[in-house]
Amino acid sequence: MTVIREVSFIKSAGSEGAYPEHELPELAFAGRSNCGKSSLINKMVDRKRLARVSNTPGRTQLVNFFRVDQRVMLVDLPGYGFAKVPLALKAAWGPMVEGYLRSREQLAALVLLVDSRREPREEELRLRAWCRERALPVIYVATKVDKLKASKRPLRLREIARDFSVPVRSVLPFSSLTGEGREELWRRLELVFG
Ligand code: GDP
Repeated sequence: MTVIREVSFIKSAGSEGAYPEHELPELAFAGRSNCGKSSLINKMVDRKRLARVSNTPGRTQLVNFFRVDQRVMLVDLPGYGFAKVPLALKAAWGPMVEGYLRSREQLAALVLLVDSRREPREEELRLRAWCRERALPVIYVATKVDKLKASKRPLRLREIARDFSVPVRSVLPFSSLTGEGREELWRRLELVFG
């Protein structure tokens, strides 16, 4: 099992000038609000409440940096798709995330989360497009797979893969509840930053 010794919250930043300066590779996590991003980050670093689960919309409109074992920086990107977020905040998401993905030199990969019961939509496809433009690796994760009926699971994973135009093995099933996928996600992450 991947053991995490030290995790530190470094800072929340609302613009490029405020991002921390450091020498570590970064791994960014993006997903629709409520897709399970905070729970996944907490599971990956084995902490209960590092990233806030079910946080209020306003707070999440910042980029949060967490340093793990002096080896890598996990970057929690703002969620999107909140029904109740004011239009101005909604409009700010695109430029902020696009700017980060395009310009952050030490960024090693984007982890793109999609709730396994939902289809990828416009924002997920935009995120992928921004990564493609700079040839940044994307790691696709289908979250909350414990909620899928066993009989439906293979089909759902195939559908998500098809929507992203990737082979089905590229879509990693993950459950923060059971821990399924945690080791495999660390393995895939280490391939890109290790
Ligand atoms: P975020 O908004 O993307 O950060 O999502 P959260 O991590 O706050 O999770 C949203 C809701 O889904 C919470 O009620 C979580 O308890 C629940 N949740 C997150 N991950 C899982 C999972 O793997 N399995 C199940 N059953 N529920 C989950």
